[in-house]
Formats: sequence, structure tokens, C-alpha cells
Amino acid sequence: MNDMERTLSIIKPDATRRNLTGKINALIESSGLRIIAQRRIQLTRTQAEQFYSVHKERAFFGELCDFMISGTVVVQALEGDNAVAKYREIMGATNPANADAGTIRKEFAESIEANSVHGSDSQENAATEIAFFFSGLDLVG
Ligand code: ADP
Ligand code: MG
Repeated sequence: MNDMERTLSIIKPDATRRNLTGKINALIESSGLRIIAQRRIQLTRTQAEQFYSVHKERAFFGELCDFMISGTVVVQALEGDNAVAKYREIMGATNPANADAGTIRKEFAESIEANSVHGSDSQENAATEIAFFFSGLDLVG
């Protein structure tokens, strides 16, 4: 069955700071996912708060937004079979201490907060998150 999906990926400031975008994207591409749109940007605080608004009641929300605006990020749309679940699998657990060997977070994350990458957690959220950063015209496949 062809279950082609899209998901949103963000390479976070801890990773862009350490010049790891190529290494992270090599793992993404090795998994078979395709990067179909990509932009390197500096988020504003308002944008970070809006993007992570589902977490606004969490204790770490303020620090998470501080972290996400502490440097540039690379936002990208990924496409492939079961892209949402597949990207979550290669990202590894939120806390790198719990992430499986070979995952992006196990290899590169610094901490539970500075964990190198974001990935959408459902197809519905993926659609919302991709639309947050990209217009239909940007999604060239
Ligand atoms: P995930 O990114 O794996 O989907 P969540 O959606 O739960 O994880 O959290 C969003 C982001 O918030 C995480 O990727 C991480 O950067 C940060 N975060 C999550 N839990 C904590 C925590 N306990 N302390 C600090 N930051 C956290
Ligand atoms: Mg999440």
C-alpha cells in the first residue's frame, strides 16, 4: 500500500550551532525520506510561542522558546511512506538518554531540551506545521 505522507522537520539551534545540518540530513535521506522544501531562518519569539503553543502550560515552555530563538533553525518538509512515524523513529526519544542507538537524538542531542530536531507527531499536526512555514508553491516534491 502506498501511504505517502509529509511531515515537518526542524533542525534546532543546538545542531545548527555545531554545523550538523548535513549530518542530520544525511540520516534523514538515508531513511528514504525526501526533503521537499527547506529554509534556514531565525524565529522571532512570537513565532516560537505560536509554533509551540500546544506546550504553553508546560513548565519548560518559556525556556523552550528561549532555546528555539537562540540561533538559526532549518525548517523542512519531508515526504515519504509513513513519513510522520518514520521520521519520529529516526529522531529517537525526546530525551536523548532514552533514544535508541543510531537515532539522530542519540547521536547528536545535548539534552532533553537541546535535542537537535523537531518532528510532527500526527498527520493532522504535520499539515498545520508545514503550513506554518511553507506555502503550497514551496512544496515542489
Ligand atoms: P518531541 O519533540 O519529542 O515531540 P515534546 O513535543 O514533548 O517532544 O516537547 C517539545 C520539545 O520541548 C522537545 O523536543 C524538547 O526540546 C522540549 N522539552 C520536552 N520536554 C522537556 C523537558 N522536560 N524539559 C525541557 N525541555 C523539554
Ligand atoms: Mg512534539
